Order: sequence, then C-alpha cells, then structure tokens
Amino acid sequence: MKYEPVIGLEVHTQVKTASKMFCGCPADSFGREPNSNTCPVCLALPGALPVPNEIAVQKTIQLAKALGCQIADFSQFERKNYFYPDLPKGFQISQYAHPVGEAGEFEGIPVRRVHLEEDTGKLIHEGGESLVDFNRSGVPLIEIVTEPEFSDPAVVTKFLKELRTLLVHLEISDADMEKGSLRLEANISLRRAGEKDLPPYKVELKNINSFGFLEKALRVEIERQQELLASGKEVAQETRGFDEKKGVTVSQRRKEEAFDYRYFPEPDLPPLTKQTLRFEGKAMRTPQELRDDYIAQGVSPDYSDILVRDPSLSQGTAAFAKATRESIAGSASILINKRYGDLKKEPIEKIVSRYKVSQEKVLLTGGEIETLADKIVLDNESAVADYLKGKEPALQFLLGQLMKESGGKVAPQEALDLLKKKIHARTSTSAKN
Ligand SMILES: [Zn+2]
Repeated sequence: MKYEPVIGLEVHTQVKTASKMFCGCPADSFGREPNSNTCPVCLALPGALPVPNEIAVQKTIQLAKALGCQIADFSQFERKNYFYPDLPKGFQISQYAHPVGEAGEFEGIPVRRVHLEEDTGKLIHEGGESLVDFNRSGVPLIEIVTEPEFSDPAVVTKFLKELRTLLVHLEISDADMEKGSLRLEANISLRRAGEKDLPPYKVELKNINSFGFLEKALRVEIERQQELLASGKEVAQETRGFDEKKGVTVSQRRKEEAFDYRYFPEPDLPPLTKQTLRFEGKAMRTPQELRDDYIAQGVSPDYSDILVRDPSLSQGTAAFAKATRESIAGSASILINKRYGDLKKEPIEKIVSRYKVSQEKVLLTGGEIETLADKIVLDNESAVADYLKGKEPALQFLLGQLMKESGGKVAPQEALDLLKKKIHARTSTSAKN
C-alpha cells in the first residue's frame, strides 16, 4: 500500500511594533527582568480596556496582501476562551470568523488565512517550581495558516525559508526562532496514494524550534504513521513534539483533552473600520522579485540574497550608493564585506565618510600594489583555493585584505582585476610544475 503525506502549516510571528497589541507597554521585552514590562491592560486587571495598535493591523494587512490574500470587508476580534496560567484574562483576543486576510497563495501553496491576535505570557519551569512572566503578554502576533497541501517535507522547509525572508524584508517581524518571534506548527496525516479526501485524523507537531528539526520531525512522523496504517492500526489524533536527541516524535496531548474555545466577538472592541482595512502601504514585492532586481543591477545572486534577507543592509546599500555615487553592486559589496566598517555596529554616515577619506588618499603606485597583491595571494592560500572552486565571496575577502593592508590606498576595481590576474598567473605556473 502506498501512502501520501498531507501536511499543513500554522505559523505564528510576533509583529515588530513599538508597543504591545492593546496597551502602551513596549512590544520588545526580550531579555528584560520578568514582569517588568506590564500594565493593567496586559495583566488583565479589573476595569482595564484594550485599545488596538494600528501599526500592527497595518502590518497584518501588508503581510496578507504579500501572501496574495483577499483583505476582508469586515474583520473583528473575538475572545478565544481557555484557562492556562500564562493567560491572565482567561481568554486571548484573537480573530476567528472574520480574519484580516483569506484565500491567498504563496510559493505555490494556498494560504487559508492571516489573522491578528495577542501573545500570551511565558511559563518558566525552575527547580520544581513554575513561574509566570507576563512581559510577553499582549505582544501582537500574526497567525498564518496554509491549506494542507504540502506533501514533501523539503517543500515545507523551502516555503518557510521564503516566508521568513518576506517577514524580515517587509519588517513585519524579526522572525527570530531563537527569540521565539517565529514559531512553527505542522499538522500531518497520510492518505492512500491517489485519494482526494482528507484523512479522518491529523497529528499536530508543536514546539519545534528550527526549520531543520521540523523537516526531520515530519519525515519521522510519516514513517511512524505509515507503519501503523500498514499494520491495520489507526493513528491517534493528538499533538506531538520532537525529541531532538532521540530523533523521534513524542505524544504531548490527546484529542480528548482538546479545548472548546467558545469564541465570541470581543465586546470591548468595535470591528475594524472599512478605512483601516483599506490601508494601502507601500507596494509589496516578493523576495524573488527583489533578488531579481538586484541581480539586474549587477549584484551577484549570493549578495542579492543577503540584501533581501537583511533590510538594514539593503537600505544601507541604497543610502551608500546615493551618498558616494558608487554603483548598487559596488555599495553592496563594500557593506557586506565591511570594507569601511560594520553597518551593524555604526551608522552609515561614518562608513560613508571613511570611504570618502580613503578616496582622497594618494593611491599606491602600480608596483607597490603588485607587491602587495603577491603577498595577499601567498598569505591566503585557502581563500585562493575557494575562489578557484568558484566561491566568489573568497575574492571579496582577498580584496578586503588588500584594502586593509594598503590602508585603503587602492582603487577597488583595479585591485580586484590585479588579484584575479595574480591568482590565475600563479595557478598556471603551478600547473606547469
Ligand atoms: Zn501593558
């Protein structure tokens, strides 16, 4: 009997905003002293009322559009009722019947819905005690749900990587899995090959904190379910986690313990207005369109990818090009290789001024540069070997070394040509020997 996996995704991502979803507390509470980032609203003290964060709503609309969704004419918040110690109100403000966006498509996979909700607090289990930290309570959270139309775990990984790039590029989220600002859940079941109906059960994989582990967990789960079905057994509907050390999935919660959330419209918040839902924002482009744009401007595919994944670097590149009249490709290369300083550690103005000073320097003579280039090629054998294997960044590294040694007194393009010449001259001599 042949089986086919049926996989769907639920992705949660914290929205990058200054304040929380329904109060004025800072949204970024990572690393703060527990319970120092709270107020009556996010602690659910009696009488406190929520006020929605407009930027979070706008970013949700932006993302929903970028994922090809239809934006709703009518959208509202609802209460999702359940009891858990990290949920001070006894319910979470979420969206149910009327999400912001529905019926999209991204990377060839249909996106069922995109909605906005608030994050919960966090439980910390320490020395036999369970402690609650409400710093995260009320941070805006977007949930993206796909249709169960994946069948290959590798395609899941590809989809998630592209989604993360989109989130980061649109500055919707840091999408940092280590900090928990991007969280993954997958549901998976198997059906007989060729069948169209969804299987009568599904297993949810939760609390998995990397794309790699999720892909592994899916593969392991496919095998486990296949064995059960092949031996005539049923697969239990349940939530499972992934034991990274043993490489197996483990049961966390059975269906009988599933919650009935008793959703109903949040009485303290009016529905989102038509005007809010018509938010236009800047034109959205997919990560691939952005990469293609850079490539058309002469940026290498590798560097294009780096720029698309890092908005501060792509903005820095545009600013650098404008301030120095360097090309986009040249500016990207200068910033990525930190030739005049690290954009992560200092403002672009400093890097630009250092670049300008270096341009005014008296350049070395041809002979001096040659001697220096010979030395760099000799001293960096592994980078030279990498470059010869086709790794373009290795050449940029060598150029960086040469610029450093010369104190910036070399024109980059000239130095680059010279380095290439030296490397090729050297390989052809060694080939003769
Ligand atoms: Zn608050």
